[in-house]
Amino acid sequence: MSFYDTLQTYDWEDVKKNIMDKSKNDAIDAINNPHRTLDDFMALISPAAAPLLEDMAQEANRMTLARFGNTIQLYIPLYVSNYCTNFCVYCGFNHDNELHRKMLTLEEVEAETQVITRWGFKHILLVSGEAPAKTDADYYEQVIRSIRDKFSQIALEVQPLEEAEYARLAEAGLSFVCVYQETYNEKQYPLYHPKGRKANYRYRLETPDRVCRAGVQKMGIGALLGLEDWRTDSFFTALHLKYLEKTYWRTKYSISLPRLRPHAGAFTPNDPINDREMVQLICAYRLLDQEAEISISTRESRAFRDHVMHLGATSMSAGSSTEPGGYVVPHKELEQFAINDNRTPQEMVEAIKAQGYEPVWKDWDKWM
Ligand code: SF4
Repeated sequence: MSFYDTLQTYDWEDVKKNIMDKSKNDAIDAINNPHRTLDDFMALISPAAAPLLEDMAQEANRMTLARFGNTIQLYIPLYVSNYCTNFCVYCGFNHDNELHRKMLTLEEVEAETQVITRWGFKHILLVSGEAPAKTDADYYEQVIRSIRDKFSQIALEVQPLEEAEYARLAEAGLSFVCVYQETYNEKQYPLYHPKGRKANYRYRLETPDRVCRAGVQKMGIGALLGLEDWRTDSFFTALHLKYLEKTYWRTKYSISLPRLRPHAGAFTPNDPINDREMVQLICAYRLLDQEAEISISTRESRAFRDHVMHLGATSMSAGSSTEPGGYVVPHKELEQFAINDNRTPQEMVEAIKAQGYEPVWKDWDKWM
């Protein structure tokens, strides 16, 4: 059964009600269950679990240390283009937003990665808007081949591609793909993605299947928190994770928890998630899944990121610019959203050490 077919067996409002109806005893049982289920996950993200946050945090800390040790992997995003043919109502790169557009040449990519490697990064995330007539698989392949000797992990956060394209990029050196569903609420999805290729909910939903079948080593999923009810979207993210782990057991997985940030345009989150709820959600993901990486970007504040190092986070970006070419020449008007933690990579390294953790620039060798 495809994940899309599985989703058809759930009703969004029923799931939401189920989560909201969970009791404190359900949450206590979930914390104490060594083989936690998706039903336990519902209890852990419910309002009833909020007073139990300290217990959840201790268990999340224990599980993360046992699996990942006291390490935080560091990566940096490189925005290669802000051209976009989509109309996502919450995004600064939206086709309708008046914005100076730029796509990096291979020479500019080289200049950007010279800066990035001087800072010490071995993990890079290539990001772009979705404009397949400009930034297509051929372009990404050229970029990946041009930088692959400098990095031990090359990740991609761009438009969904075909399985054969992912296979070609994996061959070129791609090891990690992130595609976030934004919201799993199929009925509401068109409100946020009214036209353009991204309006195709199912094609986006089934991207992780194509990535995993293509043999890419790691897949990142998540929902954009603030669009729809964050608890319900997080439940469906967890359901998606469990489906993928069962179906493609050779692949590694990563969860991201992006929250809506200010951008060039106007969109107010429908269901903002506060810091305490974010902590609860991170702990709940860890309690459900000991293997998945949890990534926290510079959308989050320095205080928040320092805090969640102890609670399940395993990977963080640092020194990020969200504008194409922003490491060599910063142009604030090109950025996708304002970042919230402005520390330099070196300051981030010091902050990680100050929390008693080891910063990891490179966690595995290509030959492994
Ligand atoms: S979220 Fe992505 S696809 Fe949507 S407008 Fe922004 S860059 Fe384009």
